[in-house]
Amino acid sequence: MTSLLEIVDLAKHYPVASGLLDRSPQSVVRAVDGVSLSVAPGETLALVGESGCGKSTLARLVLRLIDVTSGSICFDGEDITKLSGSKLRQLRRRMQIVFQDPFSSLNPHMTVREIIEEPLIVHGVGHKASMRARCDELLTLVGLDHSYASRLPHEFSGGQRQRIGIARALALQPELVVCDEPVSALDVSVQAQIINLLKDLQARFGLSYLFIAHDLAVVKHMADRVAVMYLGRIVESGPRDILFGQPKHPYTQSLLAAVPRPNPHFRRKRYIKDGDLPSPLATPSGCRFHTRCPHAIPVCVKSEPILEAVGDTHSGACHRWRESAPYVADQ
Ligand code: SF4
Repeated sequence: MTSLLEIVDLAKHYPVASGLLDRSPQSVVRAVDGVSLSVAPGETLALVGESGCGKSTLARLVLRLIDVTSGSICFDGEDITKLSGSKLRQLRRRMQIVFQDPFSSLNPHMTVREIIEEPLIVHGVGHKASMRARCDELLTLVGLDHSYASRLPHEFSGGQRQRIGIARALALQPELVVCDEPVSALDVSVQAQIINLLKDLQARFGLSYLFIAHDLAVVKHMADRVAVMYLGRIVESGPRDILFGQPKHPYTQSLLAAVPRPNPHFRRKRYIKDGDLPSPLATPSGCRFHTRCPHAIPVCVKSEPILEAVGDTHSGACHRWRESAPYVADQ
């Protein structure tokens, strides 16, 4: 299937000055460092990894909120990395974002109607009556009553605010929606409702989602395919069931092993050494995961593994994927 979004060798590097007075760049933060991935029409690609691995930077690059350092982002066959002016404005209608925090992502001084109609006004879509009708239609779509349109964001619960954020994102009928941890700030009881809403809207409008998350239980419900990111690079990607059932990369195995199990007798196997994610200012040599990998061998310190096919539709970046111990799935 032709991809709606095709990213090739994408990088975003931030030069960092050495001190307050010396502003000359001394080192570079490699927030995103050679990422390639694609999203098909109507598909959900989940991007998972720890905080600080570069997921949100990648989302902002895709939306052209920040400029790329190198690489290409093709949307519907066109490289959008060099777009500006009216072409960039047209592109923005076709890509939207649902933010993580439904409390800070809505202007507290604007009514729900003003929030939802704002993108229509900015892009000059329709007139007053049609915008009003579109706002009512969007509120119905996300499960809110029309009468809520005159209220302010603080009058709503977290789940209702996220529904308002979703209505705003859909106002311009986008094809791609970047969902940046859309349920992680919500109560568990509300998360399932928002996930089901996003799935219903996808089925109805054929939306493509780039779904950023660190909660693998949520990803399992939402994703068609999964890409696992570590320190600015994709270390494993594949269809959801294959990646969850037969993860090849030790980092993916560690993420899956960390998912809570409803079994008090379950003994968790350790798939990762103690320690935090290394600083992207000092990326480890060779395999970036070697400082935390229990399977690291000398070659891992020297040579960076490439992302290669480990199955028909499954890719991984590990020198030892052929000999990796079978992952113990849910028990
Ligand atoms: Fe671990 Fe080596 Fe594989 Fe990296 S390449 S994940 S250090 S075994």
